[in-house]
Amino acid sequence: MYAVSTAGLKGINAVGHRGWVTVKCRICATKLDTTLDIVYVCPHCRDKYEAYFCAADARRLHYRCPFCGRRLELITPWIAEKRGIR
Ligand SMILES: [Zn+2]
Ligand SMILES: [Zn+2]
Repeated sequence: MYAVSTAGLKGINAVGHRGWVTVKCRICATKLDTTLDIVYVCPHCRDKYEAYFCAADARRLHYRCPFCGRRLELITPWIAEKRGIR
């Protein structure tokens, strides 16, 4: 049962789209640059809720997604490594 209309494939998310570089923390609405900032994401809710979180809020959430309860993932591990954060 797949009733999704694909008329006019306009809304396709191209990976590497410029809009992906900057995301917004779902909790405090801080702009996060995925090339500069430590950003956490719930891979399950990313598309549905734009479930991105700043480091401070991720810690406050105990690294759990507030939508589904799954573990948040660090999408910028190289930045954390550079700053000595695991
Ligand atoms: Zn935040
Ligand atoms: Zn989630």
